[in-house]
Amino acid sequence: MYETVIGLEVHVELLTSRKIFCSCSNSFGDGINTNCCEICTGLPGAVPVFNEECLEPAIKAGLVLGCRINEVTRFDRKNYFYPDLPKGYQISQLYVPLAVDGSVELKGRTVHIREIHMEDDAAKLMYEDGKTIVDYNRCGVPLAEIVTMPDLTCAEEVVEFLEIIRKDLRAAGVTDGKLEQGSMRVDVNLSVRKPGDPLGTRTEIKNLSSFKAVSKAIEQERNRQIGLIEQGLPVMQQTLGFNEQTYEISVKRTKENSNDYKYFPDPDIPPITVSREMVEAFRRKIPELPSVREKRLVSEYGLRPEDSATLVRSCDLADLFEASSKISRLPAVTLNLILSSIPSEGRLPSPEDLAFVAGLADSGKISSGMAKTILHETTVNGTDPRRYVEEQGFMMITDEDQIRSAVLKVLEDPSNGKAVEDLRNGKDKVLGYLLGKVMRELKGRADPVLARKVLCDNVLQKSDE
Ligand SMILES: [Zn+2]
Repeated sequence: MYETVIGLEVHVELLTSRKIFCSCSNSFGDGINTNCCEICTGLPGAVPVFNEECLEPAIKAGLVLGCRINEVTRFDRKNYFYPDLPKGYQISQLYVPLAVDGSVELKGRTVHIREIHMEDDAAKLMYEDGKTIVDYNRCGVPLAEIVTMPDLTCAEEVVEFLEIIRKDLRAAGVTDGKLEQGSMRVDVNLSVRKPGDPLGTRTEIKNLSSFKAVSKAIEQERNRQIGLIEQGLPVMQQTLGFNEQTYEISVKRTKENSNDYKYFPDPDIPPITVSREMVEAFRRKIPELPSVREKRLVSEYGLRPEDSATLVRSCDLADLFEASSKISRLPAVTLNLILSSIPSEGRLPSPEDLAFVAGLADSGKISSGMAKTILHETTVNGTDPRRYVEEQGFMMITDEDQIRSAVLKVLEDPSNGKAVEDLRNGKDKVLGYLLGKVMRELKGRADPVLARKVLCDNVLQKSDE
């Protein structure tokens, strides 16, 4: 009987070679405090200079999420003290962010994007044996912060949203989106209300670094707020932390609005002009997005949405599927072969080779097991599938007499006597065992459906006698 109202702030680290306001390297995993200079550690007198390299991934983020890109954008200082922020302010964008008014389509809902702004990341604090280690390598790493409207209503929708934007932003080269390395981090703003009531007081859960943590935090915080309201207690506007091991929520700060930060335009960095030509040039470099491709494969090839999602997870597999289906015109068989018959240890088959095997499978000349064998030969040993099939005489045996003689041989073999007896007494479990023997007689080439039928018929006939 309570509705949950959720808005998100998603930080993604932009893929650039250098930091946003200095020339230090933007790379993850280097030795602590090795990628720092007077600018990113905020020494007095150091002057930040905007690294224009950041515009490409940041503008692409705006385009991917359907935003309008502002023609002039500016940086502002967000003033606060924290040990991970040596210069005493973050350089962010409050008044004129880079991109505004976007949207993302979920299955049942549109999520509006209020804005995307650029900013510098803070240092990383690590706690060890009662000490705090500060790694300034992360200071000045370029971020895009994606701010949604409060359009989401539950954890499932939030995860669906995050999965879509992560896939699409990665495909467009905006970010590597590695949650475990902190290059994608999520803040959840959440309130509850009874249907029809005005919005409740919201809290903000900061810095969630896995989809599981996001789900758990939403569930916990929703229950906590409802508990307070049911007891007649107020929900306080607070910034919360979430322990991803214990699932505990802790209060970090109480009540915080933008005027607490005394924002003002950064006097060191001139406004940035973004030309239409630049935006269009970046737009042309964005490939077809996974979210778009998933829908297209469903409508163009009649795939089920879940199969389409599985394929699109790997760009190479989706490319192979499309190229091979265009040759064979057998998308269903092709999908099946890709999902179940391509060995993980080999290279991918060429679209032509896969189309050839799909054609054989579709015509009933080979079984699925044989398709798998042929694809294994092709991808692991590099054999031409046409030659392989010809040399091996590798066609499915569909001649009933030939199969029957193999079945009779198996049934009459004394070492199978017990199994045959069991099958006659209705113990179906031994059917697979005997069928395996029949297949071995025919070197794996028997039509499995026919072999099964012939085997069953013969066992029953014998018991009728
Ligand atoms: Zn630096």
